[in-house]
Amino acid sequence: MHCPFCRNQDSRVIDSRTSDDGLSIRRRRQCTACQKRFSTIETSSLTVVKRSGATEPFSREKVVNGVRKACQGRPVSDDDLAILAQRVEDSIRGSGSAEIDANEIGLSILGPLRELDEVAYLRFASVYQDFGSLEDFEAAITALRADREKAESQNDEVVDTDEVGVTE
Ligand SMILES: [Zn+2]
Repeated sequence: MHCPFCRNQDSRVIDSRTSDDGLSIRRRRQCTACQKRFSTIETSSLTVVKRSGATEPFSREKVVNGVRKACQGRPVSDDDLAILAQRVEDSIRGSGSAEIDANEIGLSILGPLRELDEVAYLRFASVYQDFGSLEDFEAAITALRADREKAESQNDEVVDTDEVGVTE
């Protein structure tokens, strides 16, 4: 969000008011550079703070677009992506904060995407976590395998306890 007077990117919120329908927030801001005040209307109560310091409303569409590339050629439907974006939004809103780092959105995408498609997950993680070498991929794949084996052994344990229950 640029200051309309001097284009400075940093501003301080001095007052926030939610609209009657609850869908937008009117913020009174003060520029940290020129000290002038201005108002913004933000249509989502969830604001994303980008790496540049600029802010924008959270958008599920952007989550979908960000993940779609990683899912190219994978058996992932538009519905899957919509559900994933909804899950990401829910988990972010569940954290209770009105402002969220763009980085945290990436983090929130990793979990659901991993459940959806491991290859897409690796692609997304390699870009998002800036994999620089084969070792980074190896480490991510090792972690995936370890988790999968852990899940499988937990399933085994469930079966075992069932059997114990039957014999008792
Ligand atoms: Zn300014």
